[in-house]
Amino acid sequence: MAFFQDPPRLAHAFHDDRVLRSYLARALPEDARREAIPALEALGELASGELFERMVEHRAIEPRLITWDAWGHRVDRIEVTPTWKEARRIACEVGIVGTPYEGKFGEHARPLQAALIYLFHPSTDTYTCPLAMTDGAARTLLSHRNTALIDRAVARLVSRRPDEAWTSGQWMTERTGGSDVEQTETIARKDESGGYRLYGTKWFTSAITSEMALTLARPEGNGPGSRGLALFYLETRDEHGRPNGLLVNRLKDKLGTRKLPTAELTLDGALATPVAGLSDGVRAIAPMLNITRYWNSVCAISGMRRGLALARDYARRRRAFGALLSERPLHLDTLADVQAEYEAAFHLVLFTAELLGREEAGVATDEETRLLRLVTPLAKLTTGKQTVAAASEILEAFGGAGYVEDTGLPALLRDAQVLPIWEGTTNVLSLDVLRVVAKEGSLPALLGKIEALVGTARDGELSEAGASALAAVRRAAAWLGEGGRDPLAVEAGARRFALTLGRSLELAALVRHAQWSIDHERDGRARAAALRFARHGVDLLGAGGDLAGARALANDEALGVEQERG
Ligand SMILES: Cc1cc2nc3c(=O)[nH]c(=O)nc-3n(C[C@H](O)[C@H](O)[C@H](O)COP(=O)(O)OP(=O)(O)OC[C@H]3O[C@@H](n4cnc5c(N)ncnc54)[C@H](O)[C@@H]3O)c2cc1C
Repeated sequence: MAFFQDPPRLAHAFHDDRVLRSYLARALPEDARREAIPALEALGELASGELFERMVEHRAIEPRLITWDAWGHRVDRIEVTPTWKEARRIACEVGIVGTPYEGKFGEHARPLQAALIYLFHPSTDTYTCPLAMTDGAARTLLSHRNTALIDRAVARLVSRRPDEAWTSGQWMTERTGGSDVEQTETIARKDESGGYRLYGTKWFTSAITSEMALTLARPEGNGPGSRGLALFYLETRDEHGRPNGLLVNRLKDKLGTRKLPTAELTLDGALATPVAGLSDGVRAIAPMLNITRYWNSVCAISGMRRGLALARDYARRRRAFGALLSERPLHLDTLADVQAEYEAAFHLVLFTAELLGREEAGVATDEETRLLRLVTPLAKLTTGKQTVAAASEILEAFGGAGYVEDTGLPALLRDAQVLPIWEGTTNVLSLDVLRVVAKEGSLPALLGKIEALVGTARDGELSEAGASALAAVRRAAAWLGEGGRDPLAVEAGARRFALTLGRSLELAALVRHAQWSIDHERDGRARAAALRFARHGVDLLGAGGDLAGARALANDEALGVEQERG
């Protein structure tokens, strides 16, 4: 008989997920958990069953832009994939965006929502992108208390009814840049009726199928820079279903997230409404960015978990050199390293969700609110890097099959690669972390939190691992505070500084969970993950860092050497 390799299979995405279930057992009160679990079970079943199978089956179907109808009218219609149509319905019915706005779970609504996103994301072709922006738009409109826009849009954005629900876009990036948005060229011009019309080009607009968007434009006459920009609300179609002064120039041909239509747009007189005055638009859109960065972090851990579930199953089916891969010590060691990174990332992200939930429920202390502002970019930038590294290792765990398209595996890596790029690149967020630390003095709050988390450990080795997290953050604080440090050297070290904080907080959160799991579940797996993660290292500030060397290496410029004195 010729040999045919058994493909990997997914077990039930919720029942099989020890890390998620253990977290919920620790962090959610009994009544909230009992109430939430049926929805998580149902979504888990879909995610590892029908949705996953269909996603792989429809692997080659991509969205299409239909620019003209048969009779020559410009229509700019996007045909989305079957998975997207299904995902839209499921997301509404499950309340993935709605849950935090319904008031039912109080401060636990965000961790619960994170669990829903986490189960939903890897089987729905990046439909989480429009959902994230929809959540962000609802939060932004609410936080600006713009009653007219709230009445018009919020109930639709958070609706559980697919026939009335809206999604939202977030249009910031222009040809001039996505990080440096103060160069935005879009102009807002008053028309004869006193309304605003937008003129410009948006260079990356994902989820172009959305019914509305929040976008930046410079009201005519405003000065340069980010203060001269304003935040605008617009609907993509008028009451007759015609485009609202928008032309879809083309869809981007992207490395990954290929099922997500990302367009280049011309705004040619799009009717728009200011959300929060006629200036300070970048500040005004901050609530949107905080929410989408939190979603990004959840998607990062979700992708890691999916890859691991597939690789773990495959290792039990694939034989090499006379034994199953699941019995080969080196293969096990390799997967264990990825698992440890994932578990640490998981607990950081859920910790972020807890802070967000507490803030929105109005029960966060001032210190927690400050911490949230710091932890949101930390979680996004730290998990964004981890998920790409994990996806690469996961593909390798399948050997050649990991590189072959119709296994569905390569998408794991391609789709992961966007997570460190959009919603703020690693460097841009690292600089944001520096700003937050300087402006809000949040390092003591972080240190206090890490101390409290690692202080729960009674197991000797866990305590030691926790101590290494605390020591790393103390060293980072000292590094930043060293008198007279060259500001350029601080800027050059921003990424290493931020990753040190992010990884240390990951370790502390994992240590706390590991001790709980030992005590309440008699389970040593989280402990093993914490010890392994600690061995990977959390302090990244030690190495490198000299500016002259960095310039010479990055630009490949000459670098002299000092003559040894004889
Ligand atoms: C698939 C996809 C979908 C997207 N969808 C949307 C969308 O819906 N809406 C939207 O508004 N945007 C969207 N974007 C755009 C995205 O948010 C930006 O591409 C991203 O923020 C980076 O901006 P940029 O492309 O201008 O890169 P740049 O800012 O030019 O960055 C280039 C490099 O320079 C680094 N860098 C930049 N500034 C600094 C600095 N001061 N110090 C050190 N390093 C620095 C960056 O880290 C990066 O490595 C999407 C992008 C992708 C890939």
